[in-house]
Amino acid sequence: MSVSFISLGSGSNGNSTLVRVADTLILIDAGFSARIISQRLFDAGVDPEQISAILVSHEHSDHVKGIAVLARKYHIPVWLTRGSFSRLKDQNIPKVEFIHPHGSFCIGDAKITPFPIPHDAAEPCQYIISDGVKRFAIATDMGCVTPYVHQQLSGVDALLLEANYDHTMLQNGSYPYSLRTRIDGRYGHLSNDQSAALAARLEHPGLQKLFLGHLSENNNTPQSAFESVANRLQRGGDDVAVLKRAALGDWFALS
Ligand SMILES: [Zn+2]
Ligand SMILES: [Zn+2]
Repeated sequence: MSVSFISLGSGSNGNSTLVRVADTLILIDAGFSARIISQRLFDAGVDPEQISAILVSHEHSDHVKGIAVLARKYHIPVWLTRGSFSRLKDQNIPKVEFIHPHGSFCIGDAKITPFPIPHDAAEPCQYIISDGVKRFAIATDMGCVTPYVHQQLSGVDALLLEANYDHTMLQNGSYPYSLRTRIDGRYGHLSNDQSAALAARLEHPGLQKLFLGHLSENNNTPQSAFESVANRLQRGGDDVAVLKRAALGDWFALS
């Protein structure tokens, strides 16, 4: 089998990632409008009708904006924790599958391992998707790196990692103190430096590529995120890529 994925956009204003395992297509989060996501799916060569499931990480609007409309329009089941579902503004979803953040499950050819993340949402989790051999992980919306998160991410073959803010830009920027404290806190987001430290700990010969995502529009730049992380790693910058905030990326196939 095989694992490949493409970002439909990743940033503080919207996140969505399409993962393919053999013939199974899974959308992780749908934080743009259904119209935008449908268009990007078509641009990626995928008819939304083909998608087997939408997995939800948590209820913040940059992850769920298009979910209910997509689920209704294309009859896609939505998988999420009870906590996340309880906070959805639009709960009119024809088929909901509840998951436990510590319980692995399968959808078609995909083996999915959720793991809880420290974030200010009801019951947030992120996901590792595997074909049984190769593993792709998403790790965004984390205020800090818990030992359990570190353990789960160890040995993955490709990683989409949050690099939300440049610490100096956040502290010197226009955000009010309360919002700065939330972003910087243990249930907020990872800074470029935190992301770099985690990437350095996770680096191993099998890590094929590191994608940096969920960048803040106001408190980060792609260059700052890239340099913070790439400079900490033992390898060339070709192995690190910064995802576009509001546009389709490129397919990446794990080898
Ligand atoms: Zn969030
Ligand atoms: Zn988010």
